[in-house]
Amino acid sequence: MSKVQNIHLGREMEYPYEGSRPERQIAYIFDTNKCIECQTCTVACKTTWTAGKGQEHIFYNNVETKPYGFFPHGWDVKLLEMLGPGEWQDGKYQGKTIFEAAPPGERVLGYLPEEEDYTSPNLGEDVCSGDVQRGAFFQNIHNTWMFYLARICNHCTYPGCLSACPRKAIYKRPEDGIVLVDQSRCRGYRECVKACPYKKIFYNMVTRVSEKCIGCFPLIEQGEQPQCVKTCIGKIRLQGFLSRPGEEKADNPIDYLVRIKKIALPLYPQFGTEPNVYYIPPLHVPRLFLQQMFGPGVEEALKTYRSAPADKQLLAALLMFGNTPKIIHKFKAEKEHAIGYDGMSQEAVKVPFTEPFFARDLFDKKHGVVRLNIT
Ligand code: SF4
Ligand code: SF4
Repeated sequence: MSKVQNIHLGREMEYPYEGSRPERQIAYIFDTNKCIECQTCTVACKTTWTAGKGQEHIFYNNVETKPYGFFPHGWDVKLLEMLGPGEWQDGKYQGKTIFEAAPPGERVLGYLPEEEDYTSPNLGEDVCSGDVQRGAFFQNIHNTWMFYLARICNHCTYPGCLSACPRKAIYKRPEDGIVLVDQSRCRGYRECVKACPYKKIFYNMVTRVSEKCIGCFPLIEQGEQPQCVKTCIGKIRLQGFLSRPGEEKADNPIDYLVRIKKIALPLYPQFGTEPNVYYIPPLHVPRLFLQQMFGPGVEEALKTYRSAPADKQLLAALLMFGNTPKIIHKFKAEKEHAIGYDGMSQEAVKVPFTEPFFARDLFDKKHGVVRLNIT
């Protein structure tokens, strides 16, 4: 085992290989407050990449309802139970990661899901926590809760899948950190499926090799965001590149939101893989649940998120979500607009801070009809 620096844990950790951060790392931000679980992203991904034989149970992208939705069934609660409790002190994780808790003779703590665990991708969908009491009525805030969690491969900095592969068939592209499977080397041992804590690498029973999200790299290479990002109805997603720690640029929207404003947080950082999908946590969910899921930065992230309407720079970064198919490398706030630039420093998107609004007269004299304005 080597010692590598895990920035999510605030400490060094053990990992089977030397650390090698790419100069820029593919990264995503998902705003959970905006997801409506329409599954457009799931369908866009499925029809693009996993519509073939043996891929029936494979969803590179899925959206599940928390706390009771899972795909595959129980993926996170099973691993959390195996890992046991772990405390955070002053932003530093005191417990063990999946690498540090590996059983003797193995590289990673994990489990192989049963076939049935993949049979109901919508299990627990729209199920709330708690009961609605008899006589309860809406009092401005619901006393039961749930939220939608969109999930793809995290293209982890320290991938569990890669570290467990006995064939060295999984690699991380040096140019952007996308994690890929070399299927000509894979022999279908499924060690990767067992080791991925997010269960985002899949075994195909027809091809008899493993496969996973490829980050839509053919699009990335043309300066465009992946299918799941471009098609998102709720405009919850932004894809871009994270700089190396200490080299953050304030005009890069991903660096700015993740490392400078710290408004978006990794999913289960305690697993230790340093995942690169970052989530803006939901505002209405009990804090202890969120802290288990996104680590100790939840309270500060939500406070910052709430301050967005009064912070033009922050608002400008958030307006880069869902408004262009291009990858945004830089952004800025002008008086009336947020502007995003592509990799060639060309203007790719210009979004007004205030949407133009036109109110019609209630009574249209010309046509003699009453018209309503919907705000
Ligand atoms: S398309 Fe967007 S809003 Fe719809 S389920 Fe996917 S992430 Fe959520
Ligand atoms: S999420 Fe899983 S499949 Fe993706 S890089 Fe991390 S460990 Fe590998």
